[in-house]
Amino acid sequence: MKYHREFEIAYVGLKNGEHTYTYEIGKQFFELIEADADDLEAVNIQVTVTFDKQPNYFALKFDISGSVGVACDRCGDPFTLPLWDEFNLIVKLKEPTAEDEDAEDDGDIVFLPKNETVIDLSEWIYEFIMLSIPMQRVHPEDAEGNTTCNKENLALLDKMTQQAEAEEEAEKEKNKNIWKGLDAFKNNNQN
Ligand SMILES: [Zn+2]
Repeated sequence: MKYHREFEIAYVGLKNGEHTYTYEIGKQFFELIEADADDLEAVNIQVTVTFDKQPNYFALKFDISGSVGVACDRCGDPFTLPLWDEFNLIVKLKEPTAEDEDAEDDGDIVFLPKNETVIDLSEWIYEFIMLSIPMQRVHPEDAEGNTTCNKENLALLDKMTQQAEAEEEAEKEKNKNIWKGLDAFKNNNQN
């Protein structure tokens, strides 16, 4: 078991009702939970967890805000991606029954054995941060709706694409000529 004391809530002694916890998440968080985050730089995220303790369940809300540095999928330049998202989770205290296992599949309800005394939030914090980062990471548009991508990179990429297409075309032409030459050779030998 990894030890994430900072992200554990010892709920046994807590009063029923809402409790708020705030976590400053930097790059070292990913190392702590041994998650791969090589493509993320300058991680500066704040996660505020509202923990509502009820007798038989806990209702958790994770507010994610901040930013990460990523490489743009279109032009390759690094840029700062703002993050802003919210996730809810219900933690039920009981032994899961067969019926409840189905409910677990929808992802919003998880079960915690009744004999536990602490709940470790680190895996959920990780999961929700990853969910708040869009699959496609592209420079945002400016107020006029123009791309803020690195235009030199885009022009270079464009040129490289055109060059690759031209080479492909030349290759096709060459193959065509080879077949033509072969046909001519065959015809000559038949005569
Ligand atoms: Zn870009």
